[in-house]
Amino acid sequence: MKIIDGRETARQIKEEIKAEVAAIIDSGKDSPHLAAVLVGDDPASQTYIGGKEKACNEVGIISSVYRLPAITTEKEVLELVDFLNNDDQVDGFIVQLPLPDHIDENKIIQRIRPEKDVDGFHPVNVGRMALNLPAYISATPFGIIELIKRYHIETEGKHVVVLGRSHIVGTPVSILLSRKTNPGNATVTLCHSKTKNLADVARTADILIVALGQKEFVTADMVKKDAVVIDVGIHRVPSDEAKSGYKLVGDVKFDKVSRKASFITPVPGGVGPMTIVSLLSNTLKAARKEIYS
Ligand code: NDP
Repeated sequence: MKIIDGRETARQIKEEIKAEVAAIIDSGKDSPHLAAVLVGDDPASQTYIGGKEKACNEVGIISSVYRLPAITTEKEVLELVDFLNNDDQVDGFIVQLPLPDHIDENKIIQRIRPEKDVDGFHPVNVGRMALNLPAYISATPFGIIELIKRYHIETEGKHVVVLGRSHIVGTPVSILLSRKTNPGNATVTLCHSKTKNLADVARTADILIVALGQKEFVTADMVKKDAVVIDVGIHRVPSDEAKSGYKLVGDVKFDKVSRKASFITPVPGGVGPMTIVSLLSNTLKAARKEIYS
């Protein structure tokens, strides 16, 4: 069994991005600029935005954050989106989700200009991705594809089973791996809560991608010998061993499944660290006008 080391892969990608940002600056152009809008004080969102600012600093991307109180109206958020859409100093921006309940997330996402939608959530980017046209691909699926690529995992002709059909993980990753590209050209089965005999389907996977949000759901008997297992789930569980009082586990029962898999992503240190570098990579593409020229 081989561990797919997301931390080390993310570190390497950051080094590559840093070199590319330096080349942009050397050519006399401005550093790429990523902006983020954060509404309210959701702790997980604050951590993510903090991590994003740190990662931007490390690679030389300018990072700005618009922090708005939870009582901000939908109209005010839309006005800020319009402002960022028209700000030539900003190459790309994200609106951190979830938004407070009184704000319609779809309305906000659809207001972002697709050219600046480095989160890849706008329907134009999702549609372009599905049509195999240049598009910003959202961070987690992008990170999964990058891990598959960098670990030279063959996908052509393989049976990929994706557990979970969310808009941010399961559905896009299933589209990406069924496209006529490399990685891609796989036969993909997408499972969800209405799937019958899910364990039987999972057992037929050459590559099993798990994004259910169910702690340690996938057990060894659900995995074919030598399958590749990608675990997207993240859960905090109380632990006496850790100083913090908790540890992180995934959607896969790692200790048992890892003995059967050929490759596996750990939690933490697998898919998670790839998310922020994917956003940096999209910001670089935005600065270079690679997707929409
Ligand atoms: P969602 O809750 O949005 O979607 C979960 C999906 O799993 C749904 O399609 C749901 O089916 C399906 N599902 C849930 N329970 C079952 C079950 N018992 N049997 C079959 N299907 C089931 O989750 P996300 O995709 O947003 O996230 C999944 C996990 O990944 C979470 O743990 C999250 O924290 C983590 N995550 C990690 C990221 C990272 O960077 N590493 C990034 C994003 C998420 P249905 O559609 O029918 O309801």
